[in-house]
Amino acid sequence: MSLRIFYSPIFREHRPEGYHPENPTRLDYAIKGLREGDFWKEDNVLEPEPVTAEEVLLIHDGEYVGKIRELGRAFGYLDPDTYVSPGTWEAALTALGAARDAVKSALKRPGMYLALVRPPGHHAGRSGKAFNASTLGFCIFNNSAFAARTLKELDGKALVIDFDAHHGNGTQEIFWNDPDVIHIDIHERDIYPWSGYEHDVGGRDAEGSKINIPMPHYATDDDYLLAWMEVVLPVIEEVNPNVVVVSAGFDGFQGELLTTLRLTERFFRYAGATLSRYSLAVIFEGGYNVGLMEGLPAFSEGYLSGEPEKGPLKPSYEALSTVQRVVTVHREWWEL
Ligand SMILES: [Zn+2]
Repeated sequence: MSLRIFYSPIFREHRPEGYHPENPTRLDYAIKGLREGDFWKEDNVLEPEPVTAEEVLLIHDGEYVGKIRELGRAFGYLDPDTYVSPGTWEAALTALGAARDAVKSALKRPGMYLALVRPPGHHAGRSGKAFNASTLGFCIFNNSAFAARTLKELDGKALVIDFDAHHGNGTQEIFWNDPDVIHIDIHERDIYPWSGYEHDVGGRDAEGSKINIPMPHYATDDDYLLAWMEVVLPVIEEVNPNVVVVSAGFDGFQGELLTTLRLTERFFRYAGATLSRYSLAVIFEGGYNVGLMEGLPAFSEGYLSGEPEKGPLKPSYEALSTVQRVVTVHREWWEL
């Protein structure tokens, strides 16, 4: 198995005025982590092709796309969390291009293809804010949704696993009524964007295609490993996709500041290792510091080694009951 990275310096041109957690230094942390693990080499980093403005309309409506383009002529805020700068437009089109390149490569030759992009995307719905979210949560265009859309077009169906600490509400909203896009989302419950509960299973003709695992506050590796084994892996195995789209956020890593999750290298290595039998399009979402330096390389290492090590599990009572609830809800559609 090999690892290739789609990256462009253009991703640094989406930049805040003053302090903001979503800023270009995130890429420095990610690259540092990848370099130290020897995953970032001269010959495996490729420049992605941007998509056109028309192609963005495959996942977003014209009014929203126009608003991003207009606002980005100067610096401005879409909402209290989310800024647009003069480099945003080009960065966002190139990020979508990287997501598409990752999918196409993953279909062509088995391996892990990482779209190391900014701005992030999984909170962006079809016309901006998704479901009941108050903001876009730092996101502009939905890179993971674009990856899923591309994969569905080329392969008939798509599966997305989102392990960012926050619910991927934008991705879920875009495909809410689409039974051909299976979306599994494991995240911390009752935090931004306040969605992604056990009973949110997809729209009328797509019931069961959206699987939400809202984990308790302070969840640990053991809690996540349990959910991964009991829900995530069985669903992926049942779908048996040619390519898995991974909406990869590392903000659940212990020491990251936006959530209370306490994940370590152990979970991320395990997650990578258990996915090593699939070809992956890994789309970069959140993670602001230590998660990028430790979690991202651990995931990559796990994927390349292909040897899952879980050890004995001691999940919390809250995690056990969460997983049990998800299994109970989804037994109607899945062999869990
Ligand atoms: Zn996040």
